Amino acid sequence: MNKENKNNKEIKKEKKVSKIILVEGVILLTLILCLLIVSAVKRAQPQDSKQNRIENEQESNQISTPENEKEKEKEQEKESEREQKLEEEQLLKQKQEEEIARRKQEEQKILEQAKFLAAGYDYDTAIELIQSYDGYEANSEFQTLLTEIEAKKAECVPFGAYSSSAQVNHIFFHSLIADTSKAFDNDYDSNGYNYYMTTISEFQEMMQQMYDQGYVLVSIHDVVQLVEQEDGTMAYKEGSILLPPDKKPFVLSQDDVNYYDYMDGDGFASCMVIDENGRPSTKMLLEDGSYVIGDYDLVPVLETFLETHPDFSYRGARGLIALTGYEGALGYRTDPASKDSPTYEQDKETVREVAKVMKEWGWEFACHSNGHRNMQTCTDEFLVYDTNNWLENVGSLVGETDVYIFPYGIDIENTISGYKSYKFEQLFEKGFRFYCGVFKEPWIQVRESYIRMTRRPLDGQAMLQFPERLADLFDLSKVIDPARPELK
Ligand SMILES: [Zn+2]
Repeated sequence: MNKENKNNKEIKKEKKVSKIILVEGVILLTLILCLLIVSAVKRAQPQDSKQNRIENEQESNQISTPENEKEKEKEQEKESEREQKLEEEQLLKQKQEEEIARRKQEEQKILEQAKFLAAGYDYDTAIELIQSYDGYEANSEFQTLLTEIEAKKAECVPFGAYSSSAQVNHIFFHSLIADTSKAFDNDYDSNGYNYYMTTISEFQEMMQQMYDQGYVLVSIHDVVQLVEQEDGTMAYKEGSILLPPDKKPFVLSQDDVNYYDYMDGDGFASCMVIDENGRPSTKMLLEDGSYVIGDYDLVPVLETFLETHPDFSYRGARGLIALTGYEGALGYRTDPASKDSPTYEQDKETVREVAKVMKEWGWEFACHSNGHRNMQTCTDEFLVYDTNNWLENVGSLVGETDVYIFPYGIDIENTISGYKSYKFEQLFEKGFRFYCGVFKEPWIQVRESYIRMTRRPLDGQAMLQFPERLADLFDLSKVIDPARPELK
């Protein structure tokens, strides 16, 4: 009995214990569930506000049922949908803003390009550029610029302030003196530099004065144009340079851009290069053997001037670069006599590359003979031999040209009526159509098959010995470099 009672008691005790365990289990499970719900709600609402937190606490106090769970899930779904929609809207707005900014940037770029083209008198290309832009009609900035360009174009006349090509100046220079203390150091070639060279500061002042008077640089190929005749043949006629009525076109050339050996150490650049920005430039050797790249001769000095005076160049025109061949080209010794040089092939490649870039920038090349002789007094055979040499040594590197610039400015003929000689026939056969001598004032002869155009020297001799000849172009008192000595 005792044993039974004892057993019953134990059973009851065990039952009670398991009941307690069961109740505790249920409470624990409920607690865990509540905790899970709270954390789930919190996860679903990362940016919950104070209000949300209070609601969540209230919800977690409620008894969890399957219906409640579903409601909560639905609420959560709706909330995340709302958030997704909001995110999508924000993304769309951001994209729209980016697109507007991109269009604005594109428009500014086109406006700038069009203004640059119009500044260089290339109105048609400027107009075309604007009209190629989708939606230009509705853009007020584009419309204003179009009206301005159309008005400027309408006032342009052939040859601007001039009535014909006969008034167009063709001016020329040799290598510019970059360091006057070296050029005018009283050594044996100082006087030669004083006669035939111009200093960089003089050149800069000349360009400024010409710009101020309305001069505009044009290509020699703009001055005349090839026109088809009624019989189908082609003939040169006056060009169609269209400029505002106060502008005066002029042509510019530079002779002997070879950087000859005799100029070493005399304050000149040593060769033409392309600088790190892809712009034609010059290299100058310093006394310590190092070198600098920059504006040490006409080409880069003019490029720098044009950067701030884009209306000084007609449709991207630059100057003519006249080269001989007996000491290579552009400062590189590419002549046959230098073929033993270890850099011979490399130098040829450099000349090709530099010339290519220069042409892209608008510079043109001219033949200045191979050996720099008097082409009037030389024999016919020599002229043929010399021209072939130039074509082979220099033409093969800088490309074809139809411009022949006479050494010493001495024409092959003195005849003013027109060329008749065998020399002309030979040069014509080699492709030359433009023949340039030297004269104190503008002179041009436009024939059906060729053009003769003389050039005015703007060197020390012209400035010091014949200042009256330059009076129409410059106030020489402001031009002449104080470092320049008296002519001997
Ligand atoms: Zn020369």
